[in-house]
Amino acid sequence: MQTLRMNAGLLSSFLEALKAFGTLVAPVERSPGVFALEAIDDVSQARPEALRTILPFKKLLLKPRFVMLERRQGQYGADGADNDLGPVVYFGAHSCDIHALRILDLLYLSDYVDPYYKRNRDRLTVVGYGCMPDGKCFCQSMDTSTIDKDFDMFLTPLDGRYLVTVNSARGDDIVRANQHLFQPATRRDVQEYLERLKEREKAFTLSLDVTDLPYVLELKKDDPVWEELGKKCLCCGSCSMVCPTCACFNVRDECPEEDSAQRVRTWDACLYREYALVAGGHNFRASRADRVKNRYYHKQEAFVREFGMPSCVGCGRCIENCPTGINVVEVFQYVRGEA
Ligand code: SF4
Ligand code: SF4
Repeated sequence: MQTLRMNAGLLSSFLEALKAFGTLVAPVERSPGVFALEAIDDVSQARPEALRTILPFKKLLLKPRFVMLERRQGQYGADGADNDLGPVVYFGAHSCDIHALRILDLLYLSDYVDPYYKRNRDRLTVVGYGCMPDGKCFCQSMDTSTIDKDFDMFLTPLDGRYLVTVNSARGDDIVRANQHLFQPATRRDVQEYLERLKEREKAFTLSLDVTDLPYVLELKKDDPVWEELGKKCLCCGSCSMVCPTCACFNVRDECPEEDSAQRVRTWDACLYREYALVAGGHNFRASRADRVKNRYYHKQEAFVREFGMPSCVGCGRCIENCPTGINVVEVFQYVRGEA
């Protein structure tokens, strides 16, 4: 790991230089206060300080819908090329996003390696950007508010400059190819960086007590709160679609036209009624209460049991996008009897 500094006025040159390493993807403002993660050519569009894009970076690894294979006029083709995004440089990843990337790596690269994910993951360059929380961020509670690995470079804004942390061989290559942009960090840079971290820690206003939460959930399996939540939840799946760690998918065969067939993979959500429907018509989670409860238990109880950490990084996307105003932090406060 090396620590450098870059003058703030050189950000555009840095972004131009990143294009040599892949398609540059960054948050852009689509309408006031609404950000989307998009490939950009005009680097002035990049808004790395945006706290959350509508869809997270997972779409850079697995598209929401892609053709796995197809048969057209008697010939087979595709082989997942539809999901081949080529080398991508993801600029503007926040600490919680990078923790979420680690969770996706666990899911897709541990036991059975998902080849569609791996192909894009191997060519993904991650350039992080230091953020300041708003009232929907609770990454501090989830222990995901800082990151010291699993990125290539990380820019932390200081007064008129950035502290640049380089953390991979690919990051070293970017620096080597653009040495004119960087200088060694000074003691003053590091001091200001540490002060910024303290200021940031104080800026969090939302918190979730996760101490013993898996145990509390074990005890609260029959709590009426889940029925109440089931009455409010539409099971629309928005929270799963926008969640950077929700990774369920569906595979189905389609015949778009005569003499052609496609095997298609799409994002899925355990909140959908059909998700646990099996042959014979039995549904293991037929009620909305069962489905919404399952999502919360998976994130904060089952995942902890299996991997030793929750699969929520506290990004606040589900809070921002739930049409009925369900707030994950309030749900757990309620479960604990605190609200
Ligand atoms: S976004 Fe809200 S209403 Fe929709 S499935 Fe999630 S919790 Fe339920
Ligand atoms: S559950 Fe909500 S807060 Fe947690 S990672 Fe998913 S979208 Fe973010």
